[in-house]
Amino acid sequence: MIEFSYARAEDAPGAIGLSSHAARPKYLGGGTNLVDLMRETVEQADALVDVTGLSSSIEERDDGRMLIGAAAKNTAVAANRAVRTRFPMLARAILSGASGQIRNMATVGGNILQRTRCTYFYDDAGRCNKRTPGAGCDAIDGFNRYHAILGASPSCVATHPSDMCVALAALDALVHLEGPNGRRTMKLVDLHRLPGGRPDVETELATHELITAIELPALPFATRSTYRKVRDRASYAFALVSVAAALDLDADCRVRDVRLAMGGVAHKPWRALKAEGALRGQQAVRENFRAAAEAELVDASGLRDNLFKIDLAKRLIEAVLSELAGESA
Ligand code: SF4
Repeated sequence: MIEFSYARAEDAPGAIGLSSHAARPKYLGGGTNLVDLMRETVEQADALVDVTGLSSSIEERDDGRMLIGAAAKNTAVAANRAVRTRFPMLARAILSGASGQIRNMATVGGNILQRTRCTYFYDDAGRCNKRTPGAGCDAIDGFNRYHAILGASPSCVATHPSDMCVALAALDALVHLEGPNGRRTMKLVDLHRLPGGRPDVETELATHELITAIELPALPFATRSTYRKVRDRASYAFALVSVAAALDLDADCRVRDVRLAMGGVAHKPWRALKAEGALRGQQAVRENFRAAAEAELVDASGLRDNLFKIDLAKRLIEAVLSELAGESA
């Protein structure tokens, strides 16, 4: 048995202080992923700092931004009236993840920092560079149906499992951080890393740094947005491929602006900037949506079990954008 301490923080400075006294601390939100990983001894924390008492407020600001405390429960965010009407892709993404019970426990901060569900990461009989750097990667020649088709490396082909983060990436969300050296803000798309040669280093968080809130910048056309997830079961399953999209059309049905991100395809939520660039100024028709999807997936590559995801991703982008444009999807 691995012994660890437990302490509940009252605020962010208190959490950072408690964390800095430990060698292998972990911030504890709802525990819906971390506790599983501790049971499997994949996570070997010597101190848990409970941050569920930190801000869980969901606030609309006068300038159109929304600020969501990191301790807000997934259920509360998805049920919030302003989120549902102004950022429907975010509410739909959250509701497509996990189960009602898990969403009632899981926090926004924990959702962002959840770890891959790669089978070999959880199985200490398997070789995994993320769990044990330098050990090798059994997924590359093993069961890799759920693995990455974009941005992978010879060291790791895992995917990020969050649905919520896909919507946050599309919405250009900011992550508010606090650590021993003060506060800072970064884009969510810059928080998670691609695996490269260090799949064990998953984020740009500094030691003892804590997510305190996420910020949704004002985006009026996000009212016309959605999230669609393709998975092996109708519920309680991770994405094979998912798409979050928002579409802004002018009077001539040309794309004035577009936001597009994918889940289930990479080590991080994948913002589809190539597709967005290909679509701006174009007529909002299926052929152009398909061409944009082709542009985004041009560098995609698959493994034995997940090659199908390349075409699936293209078809899903086309279908979701067609739905938003009012064409039959
Ligand atoms: Fe580990 Fe990544 Fe390979 Fe999975 S894909 S076994 S997480 S190194």
